[in-house]
Amino acid sequence: MDQFKNYIYNILLEPSIKSELEYFVQEFDKNPTAYDFLVDNPQSVQENYKEGYIGLSQRYAKAQQMLKKKFPGNTHLIQFQHQLYELGTFYLHWQAFLPTIQMLGTPEQVQYWQDLSFNYQIRGAYSQTEAGHGSDVQGLQTTAVFENNSFIINTPSASAYKFWPGQLGIFATHTVLQARTTVNGKDIGIQTFVIPIREPKTLKALEGVDVGDIGPKLGFLRADNGYLGLKNVRIDRNNMLMRYTKVDENGQVTTSSKNAIKYGYGSMLNLRVSLVNVFSIFGLFTNNLAYYQVKPLLKTQSIENEAIMFRLLRSYVVQYAQIIANAQVKEIFMRFQQQLKANDKQANETLQLVHLYSSQMKSISGWEAVKTSREAIQIAPFGHLNASDLTIIYADNVPFVTYEGDNNVLMQQTAQYLLKQFGKVSGGNAQFTGMASYFNKYTQENNQKSQLQNQEEILERLSYSYCKKTMENFQNSLINGHSLQSSWNELNQCELIKASIIFGYTNIYKQMGAQIKSSGYNLELLKIHKLFGLFIILENRTTIVSFGIADFKQVEILAEIDQQFSNNNKLEFLEYLSNGVGMYRQRNFINIDWDKLNLQAKL
Ligand SMILES: Cc1cc2nc3c(=O)[nH]c(=O)nc-3n(C[C@H](O)[C@H](O)[C@H](O)COP(=O)(O)OP(=O)(O)OC[C@H]3O[C@@H](n4cnc5c(N)ncnc54)[C@H](O)[C@@H]3O)c2cc1C
Repeated sequence: MDQFKNYIYNILLEPSIKSELEYFVQEFDKNPTAYDFLVDNPQSVQENYKEGYIGLSQRYAKAQQMLKKKFPGNTHLIQFQHQLYELGTFYLHWQAFLPTIQMLGTPEQVQYWQDLSFNYQIRGAYSQTEAGHGSDVQGLQTTAVFENNSFIINTPSASAYKFWPGQLGIFATHTVLQARTTVNGKDIGIQTFVIPIREPKTLKALEGVDVGDIGPKLGFLRADNGYLGLKNVRIDRNNMLMRYTKVDENGQVTTSSKNAIKYGYGSMLNLRVSLVNVFSIFGLFTNNLAYYQVKPLLKTQSIENEAIMFRLLRSYVVQYAQIIANAQVKEIFMRFQQQLKANDKQANETLQLVHLYSSQMKSISGWEAVKTSREAIQIAPFGHLNASDLTIIYADNVPFVTYEGDNNVLMQQTAQYLLKQFGKVSGGNAQFTGMASYFNKYTQENNQKSQLQNQEEILERLSYSYCKKTMENFQNSLINGHSLQSSWNELNQCELIKASIIFGYTNIYKQMGAQIKSSGYNLELLKIHKLFGLFIILENRTTIVSFGIADFKQVEILAEIDQQFSNNNKLEFLEYLSNGVGMYRQRNFINIDWDKLNLQAKL
């Protein structure tokens, strides 16, 4: 059991903080009561989120002092505090504001802002979205104009107001902000700036700054999502993050490489890759809550349990599949960073791969977390009651599909990629490449039913056939005289998204297989992999049959795995899966024995 937990723990945590965490756990075990400030009081947060927020920030400050004492000069655990207790409150300060500076700033800029952030002298937000421009980043209207060694920042209309950023509403003193930038009359694209917005002690808005909370919303009770308007706000030239594009005091613009903007964006993908794990862990916590609440009834067989067990099993397996597959994507991201450092030409191609994998996985894991939490409410005996904790989690999970890239928009980027791949191959001389290269195995066949060897083959064939058919339909719309706009937006959009989703699930299956192989085979991991394949196949069985890939009987042969699970086996396996991570709030997936703090009594 611990082996499984350790496996998940090891692939979830950054190597840099693992040793610090281990030390932390040792210290905690010696004197747990010294750490009781880590315990959350969810009730007060629900009743008054602002007070809850202040309470949490005080706890953070305390934790900060303690961490600094233990790890002087070491920064990882400070920035990754959410691994210890809270995911919500200062998440954006540590995981969006600061990383943006670390990735897009020069070493001097990073040092400067990092020191201030670690000391809580400043608290930061991440302001990209505008009231009128979310997915359409190129349409951003906030402007930055270079003038006298400074930039003048403006939000020229209501639709240019920054809208939604977490922490902006009440507590942020600064924000990173994207703006269309002009230097000596020349548009140099969207650049990122650090903007002071409030006086740190009084939290009073600075001159020219119109900032506030956007008000009550579904979920995210602890996050003070806000709006921000700027009128002729002058900031120092050095507040533009200049790792890739520099502007000197005379307005001379230099870019370190012609791919600078792309690479700047590439560094930011780190956030998306890490969100896949966040969504999946949330999915697992949610499932655990539902499972622990329904378990006594399952054990006594007092309710019809076959369907419940299957739904729980599916949720567990999908979330683990995402985490395990994401470990491969993390590796590709690390490769991209190494190639970037070494000025390797391959960096471009690797970047495209990270972009595609991470946007597919962000979307699928977001959708799956919402699905899991909705199911959990239905499964738990008092799921709809706030006391079950599940309603709060559900509300927190719902926006996963929207922020950090709307899922339907992200999926259409995969559709564009697929279209390019099919376009290239339709000429007759080229082959599928990159993540679509497995399609080459099936191009010569005319879809006759064959003896299917394994799950991977059935999923690959499903993915190839669905994508091929969708891309052909799209091309036919063009051939029949419809415009590009109408062929994409009006006639084929839903199917283009659906094809990309099937392609995405197949990629997760394949990446997970590769990860299990590279980490040494383990029976339980293989079982999770098999079950993941099984669920995806069963959910698409009508499509599989209608494409002539297999008949119902063949699909059922693969589905026999399900009969190998008697109800007792299912329960045993559920128990096993529930132990891979701990409970929401107890955070025992990092092996801290929270019971020592009498946590239950405090809840
Ligand atoms: C809880 C929460 C927290 C957030 N935190 C932050 C933050 O800290 N910082 C920040 O900058 N932003 C934040 N956001 C904003 C978030 O990133 C945006 O909401 C998101 O990018 C989508 O933009 P939008 O809301 O303008 O919707 P739109 O982009 O306008 O999308 C609306 C609908 O139109 C569809 N659509 C849009 N474009 C297309 C297209 N080309 N083809 C087909 N369909 C399309 C979408 O699928 C969606 O259904 C947050 C949002 C939420 C809900």
